[in-house]
Amino acid sequence: MGVDATHPDDLAPASLLVSAGRPPRVPGAGVNAPLELTSTYVADGEVNYARAGNPTWTAFEDALGALEGGTALVFASGMAAVAAALSLAPERGVVVAPTHAYNGTGSILGDLADAGRLEVRRVDISDTAAVVAALDGADLLWVESPTNPMLEVADVPALVAAAHERGAVVVCDNTFATPLVQQPLADGADVVMHSVTKFLSGHSDVVLGATVTAPTGRGRALQDRLAHHRLIHGAIAGPVETWLALRGMRTMHLRVERATANAAVLAERLGGHPAVERVRYPGFGAVVSIEVCGGAEAAERVSAAVRLWTHATSLGGVESLVERRRRISTEPLTVPENLLRLSVGVEDVEDLWRDLDRALRQA
Ligand SMILES: *Cc1c(COP(=O)(O)O)cnc(C)c1O
Repeated sequence: MGVDATHPDDLAPASLLVSAGRPPRVPGAGVNAPLELTSTYVADGEVNYARAGNPTWTAFEDALGALEGGTALVFASGMAAVAAALSLAPERGVVVAPTHAYNGTGSILGDLADAGRLEVRRVDISDTAAVVAALDGADLLWVESPTNPMLEVADVPALVAAAHERGAVVVCDNTFATPLVQQPLADGADVVMHSVTKFLSGHSDVVLGATVTAPTGRGRALQDRLAHHRLIHGAIAGPVETWLALRGMRTMHLRVERATANAAVLAERLGGHPAVERVRYPGFGAVVSIEVCGGAEAAERVSAAVRLWTHATSLGGVESLVERRRRISTEPLTVPENLLRLSVGVEDVEDLWRDLDRALRQA
């Protein structure tokens, strides 16, 4: 369905982002993937019902799969992809996961643990020895790096090796790093998970998720289970959202490059700001977390005072967003009350700095 079998496979990420997932080059054909709005297909084809497949999904999955070096599946949201990936752990299995994983991931793990369906061990994912110590008897290692919003960075190859020695499946939430910075499947992970809502689609106009499985025997077996999960649990992506995500993904390298350059400048300047206690920035990516002097109230005042930045949750879009994460009740209590997560966009960096600097001084 819409796969271009002639697509070269030795391209750099920028070229893959632009060229993968295009329709075959037939004279007179469109250059973009079709937006196929249908619930059913004429009988006796490859797919007969749209919960099982859609040409727009295939185009998006081809592009993301090429970028991550595996086989992709698009889901209705990042959380639908998280739920599908967690279904790979056996009933009453042991899952090792970051203390500061995305709060939705933490919530679903908490619910599954409370229901007695999983044993969950939360660890500091940047402390390799602590993670390895927690891996005995584990069925699944959940890696998120950098973590949201604490920006801790994991040693992915070392964790993968330790988990595989013990027979555990490794899933890596690659939302923050993006495949431009980190390719977990190349580091040996079995499954990559994305909130496509964020950097991949990049315009804050869709909620969407994805998994990508490794081109290994184990990866293919997991792929079959994830595809089956999507088919029968039904958390399928809308074709319109999928088309928009693919459209947004075409420029991800440009957006991420600019946003990262902006973030690096802001992180550096914020480090010397009198109203900022601490800056967390892993040295790459477009998310910076700061701790504001004056506690939660001062952090709230900063969020209220910005004019170019927007006070809103989410991240990875072209527009810069600021949010005090602890206003979300499910955020771990180890995330500081005065922590503001900055999702840096692609605006002019001096305009971003002036607005933030003024808001910080007012607060
Ligand atoms: C947003 C996010 C998710 C959840 O994705 P949705 O698309 O909001 O369902 C999962 N992981 C990380 C790291 C995220 O930032």
